[in-house]
Amino acid sequence: MKYIAYGVILIIFATLVLPTIIVIGFIPVRSSTVQHSSVKLIKDGKMADFKTAEVKTSNDYNTINVFVVDQNKEVKMNLEDYLVGVVAAEMPADFEMEALKAQAVAARTYALSKEISVGGKGCDLHPGSDVCTDYKHCQAWISDDVMRSRWGDKYNLYRDKIVKAVNDTKDLVIVYNDALIEPAYHAISGGETEDAKNVWQENLPYLKSVPSPGEEVAQKFKTTVTVSSDEFVNRIKSRAPKAKISTKNLLGYIKNIKRTEAGHVLSLNIGGIDFTGTDIQDLFQLNSTNFSFSMRGNNVVINVIGYGHGVGMSQYGANAMAKGGKNFEDILKHYYTGVEIMRIDDLLKIKSAKA
Ligand SMILES: [Zn+2]
Repeated sequence: MKYIAYGVILIIFATLVLPTIIVIGFIPVRSSTVQHSSVKLIKDGKMADFKTAEVKTSNDYNTINVFVVDQNKEVKMNLEDYLVGVVAAEMPADFEMEALKAQAVAARTYALSKEISVGGKGCDLHPGSDVCTDYKHCQAWISDDVMRSRWGDKYNLYRDKIVKAVNDTKDLVIVYNDALIEPAYHAISGGETEDAKNVWQENLPYLKSVPSPGEEVAQKFKTTVTVSSDEFVNRIKSRAPKAKISTKNLLGYIKNIKRTEAGHVLSLNIGGIDFTGTDIQDLFQLNSTNFSFSMRGNNVVINVIGYGHGVGMSQYGANAMAKGGKNFEDILKHYYTGVEIMRIDDLLKIKSAKA
């Protein structure tokens, strides 16, 4: 129970204190410990402080104050230029154009939800800035120099493609109930996305479980982590010294695995101690909480499906939909239940009219 209690405290901390959105994307080192917290601005279908923001023209939000972590300073950027760096950082550039467009709209929705000039709370790790480039906190972003070194002779091809994805979706955002949504996304859901309620204990009507076919082509759709029985026991005991577990008949100590409908482990009991799926994910650095155990000789093999928290848009699923002829709007409406895609100006007019 102690670990569930810790989990609850962590979840409360993450939800109330850390204003981050978690997007487990393509950076392998991306942290899985800070799973999420809310963008309060766009919760409950309200842009909370909009009335006082008095947005008059698009000039008010077309400049975004980005705290660039590796330069340790704030840089004013044109919003659409900033988004090119976000899409480049968050999605492989060889993905289909419509998937890149869907990513651009999700990134724009997140950025605007944070912008202080339209009532956002900004980045609380770097007060005064709208967003930071820390992928564990706000959104990943890379500079043009990084794109050049990452893409080599494909730089022009990839950069043009991403600029097109951003330009072709200029000003478009994802809206539910006249407010910007919390556009969670992840790399690979494992075949079905998660309800936000199962992962963050937050019931968001547009973050519901939906099928996500076609992800199997992703290299990391299925991964395994293998540890010796001794190592397995040690790691469990490092977290739960009172766990009654030994290397003999090890799997017999693992009981009561409870899963969501989409397959992610909510909780399990090991050696008499309750763990959350996230506890085990962190202990063994798993790509997701959709895991199962088997033995190979004296080793424990942890079989993992998917990559990321599974909530919202699956990037590989988006790419599969794009390959199947769907456009970015189809993709976004599939992964975010009941949303509309609209121009930010039109959303602000709606809010102005209601204010
Ligand atoms: Zn931040």
